[in-house]
Amino acid sequence: MPEVLDPVDVVCVGVGWTGGIIAKELAEDGKQVVGIERGQERGPEDYLTMHNELRYALRYEMMQDLSKGTLTFRNNPNQRALPMRQLGSFLPGKGVGGAGVHWNGQTWRFLPYDFQIRSETLDRYGPGKIPEEMQLQDWGITYEELRPYYLEFEKMTGISGAAGNLNGEIQDEGNPFEGPRNEDFPTQPMITSPVLGRFMEASSSVGLHPFMAPSANLSEAYTNPDGVARGPCQYCGYCERFGCEWGAKADPTVTVLPVAQETGNFELRTQCDARRLVYDEKEGRVTGVKYVDTVDNTVYVQPAEVVALTAYGLWNVKLLLLSDIGEPYDPETGEGVVGKNYCYQNFGGSAAGFFDDEEWNLYMGAGALGAAVDDWNGDNFDHTDLDFLHGGNIAISQTGKRPIANNDAPPGVDKEWGAAFKRASVKYHNSTVNISAQGAVLPHRTNYLDLDPTYTDEWGDPLLRMTFDWTEQDRKLAEFEGRRCAEIVEAMNPTKMGVGTSVIGENGHYDIRPYQSTHNTGGAIMGANSDDSVVNSYLQCWDAENLFVPGASAFPHNSGYNPTGTVGALAYRAADGIKQYFKRPRMLG
Ligand SMILES: Cc1cc2nc3c(=O)[nH]c(=O)nc-3n(C[C@H](O)[C@H](O)[C@H](O)COP(=O)(O)OP(=O)(O)OC[C@H]3O[C@@H](n4cnc5c(N)ncnc54)[C@H](O)[C@@H]3O)c2cc1C
Repeated sequence: MPEVLDPVDVVCVGVGWTGGIIAKELAEDGKQVVGIERGQERGPEDYLTMHNELRYALRYEMMQDLSKGTLTFRNNPNQRALPMRQLGSFLPGKGVGGAGVHWNGQTWRFLPYDFQIRSETLDRYGPGKIPEEMQLQDWGITYEELRPYYLEFEKMTGISGAAGNLNGEIQDEGNPFEGPRNEDFPTQPMITSPVLGRFMEASSSVGLHPFMAPSANLSEAYTNPDGVARGPCQYCGYCERFGCEWGAKADPTVTVLPVAQETGNFELRTQCDARRLVYDEKEGRVTGVKYVDTVDNTVYVQPAEVVALTAYGLWNVKLLLLSDIGEPYDPETGEGVVGKNYCYQNFGGSAAGFFDDEEWNLYMGAGALGAAVDDWNGDNFDHTDLDFLHGGNIAISQTGKRPIANNDAPPGVDKEWGAAFKRASVKYHNSTVNISAQGAVLPHRTNYLDLDPTYTDEWGDPLLRMTFDWTEQDRKLAEFEGRRCAEIVEAMNPTKMGVGTSVIGENGHYDIRPYQSTHNTGGAIMGANSDDSVVNSYLQCWDAENLFVPGASAFPHNSGYNPTGTVGALAYRAADGIKQYFKRPRMLG
């Protein structure tokens, strides 16, 4: 029998970006908050030895241990899913701060169009434009409603950038396609390095509107509204897959968590693995969380007034399914909601340029040092004669070329080995540019998450099963975006052009082995009513009113940007919802 602990006000299941935000907001509000985290406690002092590509980038020391729990994968419902036994396509976090410690920091707002994608598509193109199996839906919230929460997340993290739209007025330096902002970014844009400058000139020359990408790697010293002071980025290039020992990259361990701890109202329990939410279906409530302290395998139940499921999108869905909360999605009938609309990101469109007589210091950089154009994203261009919807942000990223991972060689050179490859790899290390589109992935009837009937995790519980493949929409979008990327590279005047790295692959199917992005979305989606969503616009669960489910699991589709700006904004909104719920418990409207 599990030991039942004294009740608290709020339990956060997982302590990464979303858990950290909820913990800080509610602890500051005077609530007793417990954070249950399966990984270890850590902070910037633990990141001091991290400039070690082999340990962290290739042997994944920051990431989830797949021998204890993974997921199974198949491309379509007719296949048998098999366990993912090596990390590849995405790199979920473990440990305090979650993947928010080893992320890059590219921090976007989604377009106003994203939140009303179905209505806007119908209005502009008519009903024939949405393919039958594309389960496109509005989010149940507008950009305007989310706008103050975006600002809160950006101020907390200190995002560096230049506004493109200030209260409806287009600004020269920023992204003219973005939704209106109330005020400029908290810190100025990062340095426009020579190669980024070249990208900006080239894209302007072909009629596009380039701007410096918004970054959670600080461009200058910054003190946020919580009083947290951090120093500027050193451009060392060790962001993605590493923690920032300098604290210049916003992560939960240098922003929200110290503030939560300072209140005295937040208790962090590490190496504790949540296995179930305790659900009272009749009452429509959760009463607490059952978890194992993995140090001595003791099982506990932590009762709570409110549970925030903040375990990362994929594991949010797994815990909902294991706890029998909500109706599982059935792709045959279209009934059910939990697991529905799993989406990802489409990096299929890209292009490369090789420069024989020019060099840039590409080993320097930062996770979010980049320049971008949004002309081919969202519905910023006319889709009337196109056979796909949405688009992607096209960017050049100077994330810092690490020595092992980067071996660029132009077309015609064997990319695996041999003397010619070695020569090319040395020659082009600082002379290659890669430009890629971050394509939106729209929901499809047979892309979904459920529980695997065969394979189990270390506790004997079913693994999450992912069924996902690229659709015609993805392939056409990738092809289109690839051509747009090539136009920009060409305008940069390279000696030779390359095709870039296409993840759509030769056979056109999604391959879970090569790294693409940890931008897994959907499965516990938000919406205006319980028929087609798991949570409302406060991320409050329709089937358990004291359960809130923040994370990218709430996205009804994935946009053409990295997700965490929107994940963070929604977490602030969920925190707001929890505060309102404490004042008067009810379904929030
Ligand atoms: C290499 C990499 C680069 C990225 N770069 C970017 C970027 O540039 N821009 C961007 O927008 N996004 C980026 N992301 C994505 C970003 O990290 C995530 O969107 C963000 O961290 C999600 O926040 P979260 O709170 O939902 O999950 P996380 O921050 O991952 O936190 C979830 C926490 O829950 C814990 N947990 C899970 N299950 C349990 C359980 N059963 N019991 C207890 N604890 C549990 C995990 O250990 C983890 O600590 C990147 C991700 C990776 C991996």
